[in-house]
Amino acid sequence: MSENKNLRYEKKTVYELAGATVVDEAYEYAKNYVKFLDAAKTEREAVVESVRIAEAAGYRAWNFGDPINAGDKLYYNNRGKNIFLMRIGTENINNGIRITAAHIDSPRLDLKPVPLYEEHGMSFFKTHYYGGVRKYQWLAMPLALHGVVVKQDGTVVDVVVGEDETDPVMYITDLLPHLARAQGSKSINEVFQAEKLNILVGSRPVDGEEKDAVKAGVLNYLYEKYGIAEDDFLSAELSIVPAAKARDVGFDRSMICAYGHDDRVCAYPSLTAMIDSTDTKHTAMCLLVDKEETGSDGVTGMQSSLIVDVIAEIAKALGGNEAAVRANSKCLSSDVTATFDPNYADVYEHRNSSLIGCGVCLCKYTGSGGKGGTSDASAEMVGWTRRFLNEAGVVWQISELGKTDVGGGGTVAKYMANHNIDTIDIGVGVLSMHAPYELIAKVDLYEAYRAFKAFYQF
Ligand code: MN
Ligand code: MN
Repeated sequence: MSENKNLRYEKKTVYELAGATVVDEAYEYAKNYVKFLDAAKTEREAVVESVRIAEAAGYRAWNFGDPINAGDKLYYNNRGKNIFLMRIGTENINNGIRITAAHIDSPRLDLKPVPLYEEHGMSFFKTHYYGGVRKYQWLAMPLALHGVVVKQDGTVVDVVVGEDETDPVMYITDLLPHLARAQGSKSINEVFQAEKLNILVGSRPVDGEEKDAVKAGVLNYLYEKYGIAEDDFLSAELSIVPAAKARDVGFDRSMICAYGHDDRVCAYPSLTAMIDSTDTKHTAMCLLVDKEETGSDGVTGMQSSLIVDVIAEIAKALGGNEAAVRANSKCLSSDVTATFDPNYADVYEHRNSSLIGCGVCLCKYTGSGGKGGTSDASAEMVGWTRRFLNEAGVVWQISELGKTDVGGGGTVAKYMANHNIDTIDIGVGVLSMHAPYELIAKVDLYEAYRAFKAFYQF
């Protein structure tokens, strides 16, 4: 009865299924991804890079009230921290929009509003961590400072320190093992506390200063270099990120370790897929959003009304009905998942885990415990997604984050789905997720690109 049909489902790798040409293409594609990673360590920098890439491909800035016509390639830059790319198709807009949604913020340490102080001849910045970090991973390593200081007159001062080989770097001290005996019997949360994540920024006192002479030296430097005083920190967004660049990993160079794969490893392929896709029929959007790591709240997060407002503008301009447009749209929530790690096998359920090199990962649902806080894509949506992936020859797998009772996590999927837009999670598996240096496989990155391209063109 079934002699001509393989009835079994088993995961296979990109190496087995797609072959050497695709693997070569993946290695080539990864080179530009690495450049993007190094140029875009914060959401603001990711927007600048995305604008540069989009404009080079003929996209132009759009604002509310500007005309929208079939064939237009537009982008909306939201406060320099998130960006929507839009390509307007020729078919009836009521048929919906093909949307991808990835985030461009990553876990890091932000400076507090009053960061600078001196203690025992050392000057420090106080930090407030952003997103889910394992605090001990940020100690005793070179760090960089990225961000903006907005002066009272509105002048915006861009700050990047620690990226150039000749720059100084930022640093957080750690306890020497010789004196760490008592730490060994304590819990990880007791030992590593947020108020100890203080950035060492100076140890040389200014001659003749009676009080806080080291801090005085830091303030002198900041004034000379950036024209800022201590009160300018009150209106600043300054972040501490790892200082080193993205690097190939493995003798076969099959992997990349870098800061911020979550979620540039989905943002970059969705952006380039949008730009490279040749489809002119469907209207498409590529959303690169901020604040996912802290819950997607705020004016630049996915929970903002911006997406609904922009869809309403597109619908109005093209003579459509915005509710119909949303009801018939489809969204790929493009975010990372956890790749199975044999070193920590006990937290994963192997049959339902993302495996390295097995291609881009679908997640029908995210959330924690009994699917708490997930939109859970319908079987119909998964079926539709299978169809376009398989027709395009994309190597893909389906997975959950880990064992059901162990933990969990979420993405922007539910916020899109709450607008009555069919949404499914799809993204790249990551090892050491949320660590200062995360790891991905090049072939999985490339299958994400191929998946997004297939989605825009299906
Ligand atoms: Mn993410
Ligand atoms: Mn994350």
